[in-house]
Amino acid sequence: MSDHITLGVVEGDRVVGSVTHYPDEGNASEQIRAMPVEELVRVQADELKALAEGEAVEAVGLAYPGIVRNGVIEESPNFQQLKGAAMQSAMREALAARGIFPKIAISNDTDVIASGIAAQHGKLDQLVRVWWLGNGIGFGRYPAMEGVWEGGHIVVSLDPNERFCGCGGIGHLESIMGHRAMRLRFLDMEPEEVFAAAKEGDPRCSQFAIRWHRALAAATASNVHMGGPGKFYITGPNAKFVNLAFLNRSVQEMVKMSPLQGYVFEIIEKSDEIAVVGAVVNALRAG
Ligand SMILES: [Zn+2]
Repeated sequence: MSDHITLGVVEGDRVVGSVTHYPDEGNASEQIRAMPVEELVRVQADELKALAEGEAVEAVGLAYPGIVRNGVIEESPNFQQLKGAAMQSAMREALAARGIFPKIAISNDTDVIASGIAAQHGKLDQLVRVWWLGNGIGFGRYPAMEGVWEGGHIVVSLDPNERFCGCGGIGHLESIMGHRAMRLRFLDMEPEEVFAAAKEGDPRCSQFAIRWHRALAAATASNVHMGGPGKFYITGPNAKFVNLAFLNRSVQEMVKMSPLQGYVFEIIEKSDEIAVVGAVVNALRAG
């Protein structure tokens, strides 16, 4: 679930047929925001039953934006009604009432992108980390691990004026990189115009573009210093603004210990299929 609910049937590491969306017309995110949790559970269970078409279902993977732990959505700033929802047990009950008894797991929405990449790129035995660049900044990790992992809220600045993060915290990565945060910073320009002007040499925009890349480099370097070296994937609607050469150079300036210098960035196209596959990977692993 993100701006809409994305659904698909997974066999192996692929989606069979195509992914579908609910609701499929109107302003989907507004409609979802207006739905109480009980109704969301009913809609999800009905959609899943329809997708199953009476066939046996081995696993159901579900993913939501926010802090998701132990089957509970602890926090979800963009979907306030989900805060505190025990979604895993609610869905287990709703599916059982419809004659479906699968393995089931609920995950964070960027974590399932990491799991999907691991499955589709043959990396199920490796650490996969993902930055999602959109309205919010998401951090995903495979394999799923105990912890909170709100990487978009890593502090990358001590400047008290960095106050644009959606969570209200000061100095966060999202305060500099988030789409909404950029619109608040440049009240007169869209992010697309800011990056275009930076290319043309506009001083204010160029300075910001450097800051934007150094913020991601700083968060990645912090991650490497805590979690070790390895590959970082970048995806989401604003991955298109990334200058990989400059980003790599910036991280190299920030990570100097030789055992940690194996990191590599790769940009991958935003894909519903990867997230759907990853949700199922997590459900199968959860057992
Ligand atoms: Zn924040």
